[in-house]
Parts: sequence; structure tokens; C-alpha cells
Amino acid sequence: MALLDVDQAWRQVVALAQPIADSEVVACAEAVGRVAAVDVEAPIALPSFDASAMDGYAVAAGPPSADGAYRWRVVGRSAAGHPADRGVGEGEAIRIFTGAVLPVGADAVVLQEDVACAGDVIESRQPVRPEQHVRRRGNDVHKGGKLCAAGTSLTAYHLSWLAACGISRVSVTRRVRVAVLSTGDEVAEVGERLAPGQVVDANRFALRLLLKEKPIQLRDLGRVADRADAIRAALAEAAQDAELIVASGGVSVGEADFVRQALEASGSLDFWRIALKPGKPLAVGRVGDALFFGLPGNPVSTIVTYLLFVAPAIDALAGASPRPPLTVPATLRTSVRHSPGRREYLRGVATPEPGGLAVAVDGDQGSNRLGTLAAANCLVIVGEERGDLAVGDSVQVLLLGGDRSHPLRTFD
Ligand code: AMP
Ligand code: MG
Repeated sequence: MALLDVDQAWRQVVALAQPIADSEVVACAEAVGRVAAVDVEAPIALPSFDASAMDGYAVAAGPPSADGAYRWRVVGRSAAGHPADRGVGEGEAIRIFTGAVLPVGADAVVLQEDVACAGDVIESRQPVRPEQHVRRRGNDVHKGGKLCAAGTSLTAYHLSWLAACGISRVSVTRRVRVAVLSTGDEVAEVGERLAPGQVVDANRFALRLLLKEKPIQLRDLGRVADRADAIRAALAEAAQDAELIVASGGVSVGEADFVRQALEASGSLDFWRIALKPGKPLAVGRVGDALFFGLPGNPVSTIVTYLLFVAPAIDALAGASPRPPLTVPATLRTSVRHSPGRREYLRGVATPEPGGLAVAVDGDQGSNRLGTLAAANCLVIVGEERGDLAVGDSVQVLLLGGDRSHPLRTFD
């Protein structure tokens, strides 16, 4: 069976995940990560009044006096929240502060550091341009302007903008119902005493944490034994209300890999062999109305295939406009062995350099090694067409979340 290209697999996943139609209205304060169900328009202009962007004096821009200086008489005061009770005429100024209403007749603000005061007269030698240091009504958004489109995954930035326009509630798509399970006779619950040969169920733990950032409602079906009937029963149970089922383990071609069989019996299977490392085997299919993903069992493979395929499927189900993962260029500071054929996602540590990002790849990339993933702040993408890479070669990297390791953050 020919290997499926990662980008093609991504497109197929997004196409399989048909957006859910239901929506609900939630508080903006609770809407980070939710997907806007409708276009949102500004109910007011923002700013809602002409204002000063600096501390200084509001004036009407005009030519200087014959001696080249500009002079005004200060006739009032406008502070934030306390507009002046009058406007300015020719030769007049109003003392003004950042965010205060620009008085009628004024079209410029002269910086306080540019003037000399003598009694109620101020003088400046700096030319005055109309509109300088003025923040016009609606310069952020005009009334009726679009704040966000349906299908936007709402961030703190979008929601802050909505809030600034006085919007406290927003219509979003209903949370996607996601069921998670792990397969494997050897997997034990976190914190349980391990019998010989057992391993902790790190995958379900990881998936639960990663899913917290998604607009979902989780159903945890726990651990399921390596028996086709047990897996079938779990899938039937999950499909009762889930729109997406995520399982890990049991999808390779070993004797104890029953996920494929179970899926073929209870639904339909598209088994994919993806030109990807880690994570070549991926079972994708349907159980009832639910979309099913069977991820490979090694924890790093589970996490990488979650990031590449499951996370976008959830976004698509939630009605988000599909966006391929955002990658950035970086220069290798270590060599990398790679044979053409599969696209590889290597755990890397990126650091800012004057010319851009530099990235180092740790030698051992075993797909069981969560340690190298914990130490990484990005995944280094080695294209399927490439061979061995040398120090100084250019690659694309996919930044992993978390401020702690944000490679673009500098402290100087
Ligand atoms: P499998 O895909 O079931 O053949 O599993 C491949 C490897 O991943 C084996 O070493 C499993 O023990 C391990 N593995 C499978 N599921 C989990 C899990 N939920 N947590 C941690 N390791 C797992
Ligand atoms: Mg297994």
C-alpha cells in the first residue's frame, strides 16, 4: 500500500470532519478557544470619540507667528473621563491628557515636552501638523465594522476587542463531543502500582491535557483490553453520543492489534499508512456518526499524530476555518540523518539568533521518549524528499505551545 502524503492526509481529515450546526451563546469571558458561529459586528465605533493619544495641549493646527514660534492661550482642561466644557478657537489651547476627549475646534495635540509655559500662555517652536497625536473616533473599528468572522477560533485578543466594543456575550458553535480511550493489556492508570510489564497510560493523560485547549466536551472511556470484543463494545458505547472518538494503541499489525478489526466490524475503516515519522500507521474511520481516529501507541507518536490530525479535525468539527499548521524557518545547528520517503517531525530546541531562529535536534528520537519532547520547544520538519541534513541547512519548524519555551522571547 502506497504511503499517504502528510498534507494530503491533513486535507482528507479536514474534509471528513463536517462542522456541527448547533450553536449557543456564552459569555466572552468564557469563550477562549470557542469558534464564532456568526460574524460579529461592532455595535459602536472604537474609540467612540475623538481623543488625544498623548499628554499635551489640544489646538487647531495653523501657521506660526511672524517670529516662527507658535503661541496659544490655555483656556481649559480635558482629562480622561473629564471632557472640557468648551472648545478651542484660533490661538487657544486646552490642556489635555491621553485618552481625554479632543475639544471641539481642535485637530492636533502639541506634546507637553515641546512647549514652554509663561502664565497661561504656551509657546512651541515645533511645527504642528493637523491630526498629530490625535486618535480619531472609529480608528480601531467603525460602527458596523467586522470584529470577527464566523469560523474564527476565538483568542484572548479577539475577545478583548469584542469586550472593548461593549460586547459581553458571543454566539459560538456547541462544544464537540469527544470520547477518548486507550487500548492495551499493559496500560495502567497514572498513580496505580505497576505490575511487571505494565506501563502508565501516558497517552490518555496527554490527550486529556491537550484536549483542554479545544472547544470540546470530553467523555473518558478509560482503558480497554486488547480484545476485539472489548474494543467493539467501547466503540459502540462511545458512538452513542460522541462526534469524535480518539483511541491510542493497537493500530499496527501485531497480533494484539485489534483496533482495525473492531472498527471494520462496528463501522468503516480507512486505514492509513502515512509517509510520516513518528506515526506511520493511523486508523481513520467512522463508528455510527462519529469520526474515529486510532493513533499509534507510542506516546510521542500519539501526541504528534494528535497535533497533526486530531486537533485540526476538532477545529473543523467545531466549524473553524481550516488552517494548515503555521511553520517558521530555522537554521540547523546540528546535523540530521534522514532517508527520503517519509516526512519526519523531530523534537528540537529553537533559540533566537540575530539572523533568525537556530534549532538543535537531540540525537535519540525514539517515539517512546517523552523526555526529548518535554525538553523540546518545537518540531523540526524534515521533508519527505530530503536526505541527510548538515549544520547550517534550512528547515521549517512547528513551534510547540507554552510561553515557558517560546523561542521568540528574548530577555535583553
Ligand atoms: P501499540 O501501538 O499498541 O502496538 O503500542 C506501541 C507501544 O506504545 C508499546 O510499547 C505500548 O506499550 C505503548 N503504549 C501503547 N499505549 C500506551 C499508552 N496509553 N500509554 C503509554 N504507552 C502506550
Ligand atoms: Mg497495544
